[in-house]
Amino acid sequence: SAHHAVADGLPFTKYGGRHTVTLLPGVGIGPELMQGVRKVFAAAGVPVDFEEHVLPDLARGADVDEPFEHAVLSIRRNKVALKGNIEIKGRGENLVSRTVQLRRVLDLYVYVMEARSQPGVKTARQSDVDVTLVRQNTEGEYFMLEHSPVRGAAESMKVVTAAASERVARFAFEHARGQRRPRVTVVHNKATLPRSDGLFVDVALAVGSEYPEVDVDVMSVGRCCADLLHDATPFSVVLTPNLYGVYLGAILSGLVGGPGLLAGTNYGPQAAVFEPGTRNKGTDIQGRGVANPVGMLRAAADLLHFVGQRGSAALLRTAVDSALRRGTATHDIGGHSSTDEFIQDVCDHIVAARRPWDPH
Ligand code: ATP
Repeated sequence: SAHHAVADGLPFTKYGGRHTVTLLPGVGIGPELMQGVRKVFAAAGVPVDFEEHVLPDLARGADVDEPFEHAVLSIRRNKVALKGNIEIKGRGENLVSRTVQLRRVLDLYVYVMEARSQPGVKTARQSDVDVTLVRQNTEGEYFMLEHSPVRGAAESMKVVTAAASERVARFAFEHARGQRRPRVTVVHNKATLPRSDGLFVDVALAVGSEYPEVDVDVMSVGRCCADLLHDATPFSVVLTPNLYGVYLGAILSGLVGGPGLLAGTNYGPQAAVFEPGTRNKGTDIQGRGVANPVGMLRAAADLLHFVGQRGSAALLRTAVDSALRRGTATHDIGGHSSTDEFIQDVCDHIVAARRPWDPH
């Protein structure tokens, strides 16, 4: 595991043997999925208490995002958070993505998404996807330096530094080292952006030279998209600049059955923030009780593993997989179950597995 490179040995907040974890339910389907996580944690009896931070829209004209500042303080204290899609604050010219802001202020420099084919989920194209996406998470196109110098024109700065590229590349190679197929595919658009993407690739290759046991592939982002869609099996770890990673993540989640299934983690030296992999708001299905909770549950399991609750993490993963295997499925993956029914199925499995007299 590459986790030792980030946020390792952190003094997690713990009172009387119980962990305190920051919870940002976010907007859209976030809050209903968090209810599911609470129910599952209760069934599993995990020693986790949530510190919930709701982030309401900023009042017009407000120049300090106080709810956000409090949430950041909470994460700094606890070092661990579970989040839904937290909204953009402000409007028009002053628009700032709270998600991007959170990554910047907490220095969550790497985003990791494990894209694996899901048990029981039928997909049109491929059945054995197993790719880890490692994405630079704090700069590139998401540097948030945008302005309109004159009416009718806008500029947006893409920033790439050797320092940030090196950190994320090291994470990717450390991670690849422990994989079944130790390979890193470095993604770029050097033909069009020779300086910025060129720097990213050069740094990645320099880091890669320290890992002779890991194969390195350098690939344009267009070809990477096409190759993944055609056959993802040759891929292992995909290392990408920020923006391309957003879309590669969308392709990967599409390949394994849709946006509701995968989890993603933002890591930095001081904190780890867990969330569903593609961070969808799901505005169109909000409040209808049909959202797929699998991605959020996988994020919650990753969180448990990270804080050292390995047994509970494994139990939750097994419970989710066996629910899927039994055909419990929400509409987005072709089933008829509600969010609650899926959660109940997971809870039943956990309760049965915890019963010492049950040979489950
Ligand atoms: P937004 O909702 O932010 O306005 P969008 O139209 O891009 O933007 P997303 O939230 O990104 O929508 O989701 C894309 C589609 O996937 C939507 O139809 C949404 O309902 C669906 N979807 C996303 N997450 C889930 C989930 N967990 N379960 C079921 N469907 C989901």
